[in-house]
Amino acid sequence: MKHYQILIIGGGTAGITTAAQLKRKDSSLNIGIIEPSEKHYYQPAWTLVGAGTYKFEDTARNEKDYIPKGVDWIKDKATKISGKNSTVSTEKSGNFTYEYLVVAPGLVMAPELIPGLPEAMDKGVVCSNYTNPKHTWDVLQNFKGGNAVFTQPTTPIKCGGAPQKIMYLAEEYFRKSGVREKTNVSFITPGTIIFGVPDFAKTLNKIIEERNIIFKPFLAPVKIDAEKQEIYFKYIKPDSSYEPEKGSKLGEEVTEDNLVKVHFDMLHLAPPQAAPKFIQESDISIQEGAGKGWVDVDIHSLQHQRFPNVFALGDVANLPTAKTGAAVRKQAPVVVENLLKLIKTQKVGTAAYSGYSSCPLVTGYSKMVLAEFKYDNIRDSDPLISKFVDTSKEQYSMWLLKKYGLPFMYWNLMLRGKA
Ligand SMILES: Cc1cc2nc3c(=O)[nH]c(=O)nc-3n(C[C@H](O)[C@H](O)[C@H](O)COP(=O)(O)OP(=O)(O)OC[C@H]3O[C@@H](n4cnc5c(N)ncnc54)[C@H](O)[C@@H]3O)c2cc1C
Repeated sequence: MKHYQILIIGGGTAGITTAAQLKRKDSSLNIGIIEPSEKHYYQPAWTLVGAGTYKFEDTARNEKDYIPKGVDWIKDKATKISGKNSTVSTEKSGNFTYEYLVVAPGLVMAPELIPGLPEAMDKGVVCSNYTNPKHTWDVLQNFKGGNAVFTQPTTPIKCGGAPQKIMYLAEEYFRKSGVREKTNVSFITPGTIIFGVPDFAKTLNKIIEERNIIFKPFLAPVKIDAEKQEIYFKYIKPDSSYEPEKGSKLGEEVTEDNLVKVHFDMLHLAPPQAAPKFIQESDISIQEGAGKGWVDVDIHSLQHQRFPNVFALGDVANLPTAKTGAAVRKQAPVVVENLLKLIKTQKVGTAAYSGYSSCPLVTGYSKMVLAEFKYDNIRDSDPLISKFVDTSKEQYSMWLLKKYGLPFMYWNLMLRGKA
């Protein structure tokens, strides 16, 4: 069995950033990264790809160029983890033992959780920036009017704001393409409000009203009939039943089995998402109850609750905040500091993650609200940026940051362990 001092599972945003920072701090560390993909994608730009304002090809780079110097790339898939035995199995490269493990394989799409979705996904008028943003752009360009439905599932998803960002962009695009007058743009969500942090919700509610967007909370997508172009929702508001408004433009109907049926002429959705199966089946995931299947880490130290030599970060970690690359940027230094302290002193460090995450809410082709927050939905806007602009309002400067600044920072600083 091959052994590593530090074994990292996943060479995506979190795995690469952590490896790069570790190596910068101590080049003598013996590190292996298990990662099967040749390409790494800057997923945050997929929102812009879906709206035709960023090239998909520009979101991809070769993985090999981002594996830090001196780190072994095990080009394979992890298939099994035993926290108890400190081992990881892979598809083709055999088994590994480790002194310390960093778990960062992200999450997987789970369309099978909505009947009818696997058949419908990325075909015809059904699209998702999560799986094929180029198809989203095709759908927007071919759209001739009718119901444009935007929705999201009840499971945790990465970048919780992405399902509504593409809606704001589409709404503006439909005005340009001349179909807006004959279109109902609707955002139908199992959520109770448009956004969890009040300052940003205020701006978004105003936008929704001004742009005549239909907002329907408490509706969870449960079934899709791609052929008939119908999506069914369950009304999940406690102790209430759904009543369509009189003369509702959306034309929704309540079915005999008490579901809300909506016809769509285009549908964008975030598919349900889950921890990868090998994580769910391992002893490092939460076995029962809330957070089942995700990696069981302390929400501040990011150290595993039961296996002290294991850390997790990124989308796979069970953390009560938004799963984003921005969150990873604040998580990686915590893992690095706590892990290095553990190696040196046998005691975990005291670095603590505050739950920081950010959602660049693109609200149009040249506008953006930069929502930054931490645990408990507390606003946590960058003090320096806030000196110059109110990031809770739509700003052109923030759009420039999204389109040019953040991708530059990502490839050149974050993945190099410099930011
Ligand atoms: C449409 C969209 C819009 C987004 N917008 C934003 C945004 O505006 N801002 C923002 O900050 N974030 C955004 N995100 C989220 C952001 O991209 C993720 O939160 C971030 O990439 C998470 O990093 P990660 O390392 O956990 O996962 P990833 O970056 O997805 O990396 C996981 C890696 O693990 C590898 N892997 C998977 N299975 C295995 C296995 N069995 N063995 C070994 N390796 C494995 C994968 O190949 C992958 O390389 C967006 C995402 C999407 C899809």
